[in-house]
Amino acid sequence: MFEKILIANRGEIALRIHRACREMGIKTVAVHSTADADAMHVRLADEFVCIGPPNPKESYLNIPALISAAEITGADAVHPGYGFLSENARFAEIVEAHEIAFIGPTPEHIRLMGDKIAAKKTMRDLGVPVVPGFEGNLEDMDVARKEAGAIGYPVLAKAAAGGGGRGMKVIKSEDQLEELLTQARNEAMHAFGDDTMYMEKYLPSPRHIEVQVFGDGKGEAIHLGERDCSLQRRHQKVLEEAPSPALNANQRNAIGERAAKAVAGLGYRGAGTIEFLYQDGEFYFIEMNTRLQVEHPVTEAITRIDLVREQIRIASGAPLSLSQKDVRFAGHAVECRINAEDPRTFRPTPGNVTDYHPPGGLGVRVDSGLYQGYRVPPYYDSLIAKLVVHGRNRNECLMRLRRCLEEFVIGGISTTIPLHAALVDDPEFIDGDYTIHWLEQNLERLVGD
Ligand code: ADP
Repeated sequence: MFEKILIANRGEIALRIHRACREMGIKTVAVHSTADADAMHVRLADEFVCIGPPNPKESYLNIPALISAAEITGADAVHPGYGFLSENARFAEIVEAHEIAFIGPTPEHIRLMGDKIAAKKTMRDLGVPVVPGFEGNLEDMDVARKEAGAIGYPVLAKAAAGGGGRGMKVIKSEDQLEELLTQARNEAMHAFGDDTMYMEKYLPSPRHIEVQVFGDGKGEAIHLGERDCSLQRRHQKVLEEAPSPALNANQRNAIGERAAKAVAGLGYRGAGTIEFLYQDGEFYFIEMNTRLQVEHPVTEAITRIDLVREQIRIASGAPLSLSQKDVRFAGHAVECRINAEDPRTFRPTPGNVTDYHPPGGLGVRVDSGLYQGYRVPPYYDSLIAKLVVHGRNRNECLMRLRRCLEEFVIGGISTTIPLHAALVDDPEFIDGDYTIHWLEQNLERLVGD
């Protein structure tokens, strides 16, 4: 087992990883920018290294600074968290070239899944259902017209290098095809430096359901059920729940087994998430994330498995700590992402936290680096806390969540707590009857004046 892990991240996830390390008797090294010198992840770590100025490019994305920090402190592994360098194959390669373990999949698997066309073909070959579409060359407009016609409008143009919903355009009819495809291509070039495009059938009202998987890198794999992440604003997840209110146990096991089988077939190592759109009883693969997800605690709540611990064990060469038949799902969990943002305009609200009182009690978990007197810096993602609530069933979970949102005090800055409070009181949300468009269509009603 590792003796010392460098956590190449910040905020709540750095803290989350630190906690798993401590419980495994592993020492931690925090890294931080000059803007984060007072952050909780720095305060709790055994050692810390300043890796640069506030701009993430010069600190949290600064590979030479991170490698130096690992070498100086003698860390024998690096955990990248999510975001930042977590899906950067080059970083994983460089870490391993320094004989430091990368807590994640191999660079080859990161690269494969980062190319969405290659990922889709690979998954299709492994027996995973994918969205019908065309992954060939779309440069020739005659080909593009023919293929779009064959798929049937509306179609969605997507970037092979895509991420964060960029380089994506819905095309409703042939007369829009050339213009929108060009626009999507330009956007992709600008965002990713790669304008390779592919096309898919546009599904009008799907849910976003993702399956948590783990592989041991040697051909064994398990799934830990699904998470429903359909509540999104601008392709950003706002609230996640597990299990999905839309699935029954048979559907859950069927899609989970398919996902685990694909991961086993790949020889995949570590944690991964296979994302699907789900509509009219059918699943369609859209992408695989080769890292820990923000919303992993809902899976932890219903399985009582520590996902970070499992990641660390696998990276150290240990086998999976349990087999599929040992995985048991209990109750229902919801995660609310609490952002330092105005709940109406969603403008970031960095600043001084004057009061902080998180909720507690049975079935309640708050992952956050906040404390009274902390200054939320303006340079990073606005996620400041994750409220994760578990109940024996969905109703108990929502009752508890409502109580927790009433209790939660974050003073001095605006947060998205009022949006979550409105959501848990909403009859359609309570019915579990929502698609990926529901939140945006109902925002006015939820947080309007
Ligand atoms: P990114 O990597 O940019 O996040 P994804 O492929 O994960 O791209 O898609 C992002 C979001 O776009 C999905 O969560 C879903 O809301 C929407 N989306 C993607 N593909 C389709 C599709 N074929 N039909 C309808 N919506 C889609």
